Amino acid sequence: MTTPLPRLLLDVDGPLNPYAAKPHQRPAGYGTHRVKPDSWVARFPQRPAEYVRPLRLWINPDHGPELLSLPYELVWATTWMAEANTWIAPLLGLPELPYVAWPQLHQEDPDGLHWKTRALVAWAAGRPFVWVDDELGPQDAAWIADHHPGRALALHVDPKLGLRGGDFATLREWAAAA
Ligand SMILES: [Mg+2]
Repeated sequence: MTTPLPRLLLDVDGPLNPYAAKPHQRPAGYGTHRVKPDSWVARFPQRPAEYVRPLRLWINPDHGPELLSLPYELVWATTWMAEANTWIAPLLGLPELPYVAWPQLHQEDPDGLHWKTRALVAWAAGRPFVWVDDELGPQDAAWIADHHPGRALALHVDPKLGLRGGDFATLREWAAAA
């Protein structure tokens, strides 16, 4: 019997798109893309779609092959949901990936957890996972440790920097330690 691979639950804005880097200095290795996903256009209901300014994305095309080389099953865990497959995956050379369909976006949590935390633990249903996100905090890691019966890691990524070599090393080590 083969053990299923752990899942790598990927946030987009922060880890893959370091949106908080200096605005006029594209981070090394990244390409600039300007996109207009439907969910972005919908944020400006008072404006006709053609007048909505595109969303700027910085994407590092090396991240796709690097993610695919990891011993994980890749899953989108982002507000982009299905749009990550339309707009982000092709820029990284990733195939269509499963995604977490959130019950509700940005829902305030009674215990101050990140709005994704409980949903991810429910979604994982006991299977090992690493969650990569720029917004998670120590309280999320602690809550996951208490409520998720399998192995889990909450890996914080600085949205000024995006995923870096050290993060990929951490992901490999964590998978190897199983
Ligand atoms: Mg984010």
